[in-house]
Order: sequence, then structure tokens, then C-alpha cells
Amino acid sequence: MKITQIAVHQVDLPLSAGTYSWSDGKSIRTYDSTVVRVFTDAGLIGHGEVCPLGPSYLPAYANGVRTGLAELAPHLIGQDPRQLGVINRVMDQQLKGHPYVKSALDIACWDILGLASGLPVSTLLGGRQGEAVKCYRAISRDTPERMVERVAACRAEGHHHFQIKVGGEPDFDIARIRAVAASLGAGEVLVADANTSWLPHQAARVVRAIEDIDLYLEQPCLGYGECLSIRRRTSRPFILDEIIDGPAMLLRAHADQAMDVVNIKLSKVGGLTAARQMRDMCVVMGLAMTIEDSGGSDIVTAAIAHLAHSTPEAFRFSSSDVNGYNTVSIAEGGPQQRGGYIEAPTGPGLGVVPYLDVLGKPVATIG
Ligand code: MG
Repeated sequence: MKITQIAVHQVDLPLSAGTYSWSDGKSIRTYDSTVVRVFTDAGLIGHGEVCPLGPSYLPAYANGVRTGLAELAPHLIGQDPRQLGVINRVMDQQLKGHPYVKSALDIACWDILGLASGLPVSTLLGGRQGEAVKCYRAISRDTPERMVERVAACRAEGHHHFQIKVGGEPDFDIARIRAVAASLGAGEVLVADANTSWLPHQAARVVRAIEDIDLYLEQPCLGYGECLSIRRRTSRPFILDEIIDGPAMLLRAHADQAMDVVNIKLSKVGGLTAARQMRDMCVVMGLAMTIEDSGGSDIVTAAIAHLAHSTPEAFRFSSSDVNGYNTVSIAEGGPQQRGGYIEAPTGPGLGVVPYLDVLGKPVATIG
């Protein structure tokens, strides 16, 4: 089987909450998502999606996806999409870095492997484990009162795992954390995510002020050394996200005992192939994970669900239904969050069928 053509589509996904806000005053109102359709000479079509959280969250941006695809996709024409190791080797040889560009292509090739074998991607990734995958809800940075209201609204939808966005002025962040923590019920999980934005002296103040609260701290500072120094000043369980950009950083941070949980975002590491490698390393090392992505709709959510659902339950700290944050459905069969949980589709491949009228005309066609 050979790849004959790759079509690139751009889709705007307005956020259902209007705005999503995180550290340092950053916010977006619309996801700019890119969908690839990978055509083969066997008649099978695989689908992938990638959606950076605006241009200032990770070193990735939506126009960069499309520019990178124009550079990379021609090298995949004629390749067998079922040979994921070969596909990834070709991508890494032809374009250094830029994992987010590779993510959608990699996901689409897994979709084709599943369609060709008649198996769901979750089976190919190790097999479905447990009934459903728990999702967290991200709570935008806002006043303490409005964040408590938002948590209550998400609880009413069935969520009990909240990731509140902090990373601003320390006194306000302490007030945000205290207000939300006081509103939680028994068994609910609280994560305070600073998204790299505190300087070490600010993070040091916050962690000391909230030492009595049962919560997880996530990525307080920009640099690895700064995060490690804060990790060593707190007894709270610690999560690293942005700084863990691939297997090498995962191994280094594990060796340094720099975290208790790691967040694996598909596009941050290059797609399902790399994320699966890191997932398997985490299981071997005894490290819990959040398997997620930076944004997107039904295709990304399906890919997340397949990897998460094939991960041993004890290692699933949480996951994310990224399609639950926006107002546009781009494919039939995308996992739908119910009561705070999603499930991997059970059909072959990713188990999703795109709505071609929503994707519109391709912005580029290669091959
Ligand atoms: Mg995070």
C-alpha cells in the first residue's frame, strides 16, 4: 500500500466558553485546527488532526503546521502508511524538530493501519483496558469567585477532576487556589497549573502558602532547573507538562525524581507513535500520566482516547476530551464526554468519519 495524496484542511473551532485563559494573560477564543486526509492506492483514507493552543502556548502555531506540512508531506508520497516506524523515520530525517507538524500525519497513518487490519487503534496500541477514561476539566484563570462558579458548573456535568489555571500574581493565585479548594467535595482532584509563568521566587511563595491544601502543582516555571528547585521545596505531588517534550526529557526528569505525574500531549511529542513510546516508558517507570493534546476536535479526541484507553488504568491520572471545549464537530464518531469520561471508538482505525462539508475545500493538496 502506498500513500498517493495528502490533503490539508483548515477548520476554525470557536470555544464554547467564549474564551480560554491561562497564565500571564494569555487567551484564545477560537482553535485554529488542521486536518489531514491521507489517501492511498488501496482506496483507504486516513485522518489526522493537530491544533496548537494559539501561537504562545508551546513552540507551535497553526500556520506553522500548514507550512511544515507543505515541506514534509511530499516525502511521504509513495511510502507505506502502515509502516509507522518507517514513516516516522522518514519524517524525522526530512524535517528536524517540529513534532506538531508530524503529529497529524502520524495519527492519519495509524488510522490507515487500523482500517487496513480491521482493528481499532486502541487494539493496535496494546488493547482496551477498563471501561472508560476519566477527563479533567480545565478552569480558565479568572477571579476566585468566577472560578468557583465554573468548577460548580463542571461538577454539574459530572466532572470531579479540575485543573485550575494560575500563573499570575502570587497573592491572587493563592486566593484562587484557596477559594476553589474550599469548594471541593470529598474525592475531587485539584490541580493548580501555572503553565510555566511563575518566576522561582513567586512559585516559592505560592507553594509555601498552600502547603496545607490537598492538590497537585503543575509546571510552575519555564525552565527545567527552576521547576526542579520548586519541586524540592514542596511536599505536594508535582506534575510536569510543557518541559517534557520527548523521551529524553522524560528519562532525565524521572532520573531526577522531578515529577509524580507527566502530561503527554500528542502534538507536543509528534503523534501517537512517540506518545506510545513515552506511555510505555512511564508504565515501566511507574509514572502516572495525563494523556491529552493542546486542542482540536473529534479526530484528536479519538486519537487521545485510543492511546488512553489502551493504557493500564492505574497509570491514567486523567485525560482530556479536547472536543468538549469547542462548538464545532468535525467528524461522526468522535468520543463524547459523559459524566466526566470518554471511551475509545470501537470501529476500525480511529473510528471517526469526517464531515466533509465542515472540513471544506483543502487549503493544500500534495501528490
Ligand atoms: Mg498543563
